[in-house]
Amino acid sequence: MARSWLDYKTQAWVQWCPGCGDFGILNSIYRAVSELGIDPENLAVVGGIGCSGRTTYYVKGSNFHALHGRAIPVATGVKLANPHLNVIVVGGDGDLMGIGGGHFVALGRRNLNITVLLFDNAVYGLTKGQAAPTLPAWIKTKALSMPNIHDNINPVLLAFAAGYTFIARGYAYHTQQLKELIKTAVRHRGAALVDILQPCPTYNNIMTNKWYEERIYYVDQEEGYDPIIRTPEEFQKKAPAIAAKLMEFGDRIPLGILYWNQTRESFEERLEKIMPGYMSAPPATRRIELEGKPFLHPFDIFKDRLVTP
Ligand code: SF4
Repeated sequence: MARSWLDYKTQAWVQWCPGCGDFGILNSIYRAVSELGIDPENLAVVGGIGCSGRTTYYVKGSNFHALHGRAIPVATGVKLANPHLNVIVVGGDGDLMGIGGGHFVALGRRNLNITVLLFDNAVYGLTKGQAAPTLPAWIKTKALSMPNIHDNINPVLLAFAAGYTFIARGYAYHTQQLKELIKTAVRHRGAALVDILQPCPTYNNIMTNKWYEERIYYVDQEEGYDPIIRTPEEFQKKAPAIAAKLMEFGDRIPLGILYWNQTRESFEERLEKIMPGYMSAPPATRRIELEGKPFLHPFDIFKDRLVTP
């Protein structure tokens, strides 16, 4: 049942610069989780370090502000302990594509049911605008003393190679469309990425709202592009067109659902196969103490469940 978005708003003062794309992302999160009717008790937002990490203070839930690059491993622990929670990771491109890049790949390999919202503004905003991994080569933003000589990473292509089964791209100022993408990503069973292009008006004076508006378009307005995989055979057939679409980033930048594989089993489904009963009695619901004394050692939680597949 849908709830009011105000049910998810905390009392914390929102500390972002005027005009920051983060506001659009935050509003889209509020409206997505409220329309999905997710109880704040069943929501966990896990963030890394960066302007995006502050989202964990602004959305009501069982949240965690983790170390730089470590939002995904923390979120993985949360999700494995209680697979019934809706777990959303928020992080910037510096956090998730830089220091946290290995964890980003590991989540795709596992296809654990977590939604990653990548606040993609191509700079390290919190530390005064250094070049981040998604900043294209030869761009010189105002905080750089010379143009960036690194090539940029493409998060959606990396996610595809890593094994994410839902990949979308949104734009922070298009909150209606972004809200719908977040809702679909949260409902998806498996690792989901929404790469959110986001102007940073304070430090990225090149990739502005005008820069994005001149390039972005929605793939569902283009005839013939179908990102959904319903059978393994369909993957073989559609993979080249999907990979080509994911690679597109330059004069034209595609938005919307870019890839949605509905055939691959999630990590929880695999765990259930080797640990029957995992989903009905996950670790978070099991008693670990009795009369103040440890009753079950954490290492023993799964011991009686493991079966050879
Ligand atoms: Fe937003 Fe950039 Fe300011 Fe950070 S530095 S709050 S990303 S405008």
